[in-house]
Amino acid sequence: MPSDWRSELEDCRLCAWQCGVNRLAGECGVCQLGLPRVASRTLHPAPPQSYTIFMAGCNFKCLHCQNWTIAHYPAQRTHVDGEVKPDDLAAESVAALESAAGRLMGADRLFFSGGSPTCSLPYVEAVVAAARRINPDVKVNYDTNGFMTAAALERILSWTTSITFDLRAIDDEVHRALTGAPAAPVLRNAEVVAAHKEHLWEFRILVVPEINEDQIEPLCRFLAALDRDLSVCFLAFRPNWVLERHPGATRRSMERAVRIAHRCGLDRAYWSGHAGISGEVASDLHSDYRSLSARRAGAYAAAAGCVTHPRDCGACSSALTCRLKEYRPRRTT
Ligand code: SF4
Ligand code: SF4
Repeated sequence: MPSDWRSELEDCRLCAWQCGVNRLAGECGVCQLGLPRVASRTLHPAPPQSYTIFMAGCNFKCLHCQNWTIAHYPAQRTHVDGEVKPDDLAAESVAALESAAGRLMGADRLFFSGGSPTCSLPYVEAVVAAARRINPDVKVNYDTNGFMTAAALERILSWTTSITFDLRAIDDEVHRALTGAPAAPVLRNAEVVAAHKEHLWEFRILVVPEINEDQIEPLCRFLAALDRDLSVCFLAFRPNWVLERHPGATRRSMERAVRIAHRCGLDRAYWSGHAGISGEVASDLHSDYRSLSARRAGAYAAAAGCVTHPRDCGACSSALTCRLKEYRPRRTT
């Protein structure tokens, strides 16, 4: 790690977009993030229990995003904390883990989430290094959409204790329609993480009815071919952000996902989340996609302001003025 963690932001190539922009000089890449900003931090009871630090900014524009206010800072003009020095955040985090509330909860690690912490990777590394100067045994979880470069992933694996890794689709056009990004870098990194499963907490697959349900079986086959012992959690989609009116995942569809995983040999699969929230599938379909799932997701994206189809935020001439990033839902669940 460079002695000044900021220097890497002068030619930012942290994630697979490899924008090469000088974020310190005000240039913007796909994430539109300048200096890393902490959106919020708190003791968090969801496994693995942790002191969770939500970093602002994201390199994806997922239609289903639950954390859209954080992910799309600064376009969403969300309040974020000012510049929090890595040493100060480290001291605060270790103290929170060692507090009575932290112990009672069973919180045993820092958990970097977002948005995507990859957009803030040098800062995250500075916090981890400072925390380990205070307590060399402090554990760390890295929560990711898997879109970092291979070099960034190698760095992360050198210091993280555990990784929670989101997968959405194996089919490239469904992945693009849902996230704005290609699937290949994510699948490549999933393979690397599976080969280092001592660092894996679990793969997480969000189940979005009528959009990525047909991706469950191919994703399970992909993971089972890597290692049948991988832990997989299916998360029930709750209507949010651009998909605010779309129906949530049903209990039945979650149980079906687990059955498919078991059939593929992934015995350590389970589901979690709040199922059964009502909604309505929009009837519009976007003609620039082949599969029904991608056509449906593409239509939602277009209705919310996305102008490039098939979606490709890295090549989009409107990336710096992306209207989707400014989308404000009327309903959140
Ligand atoms: S999208 Fe990725 S490569 Fe581009 S500026 Fe953001 S973090 Fe850097
Ligand atoms: S308008 Fe461009 S940058 Fe925005 S979501 Fe669509 S493809 Fe991505």
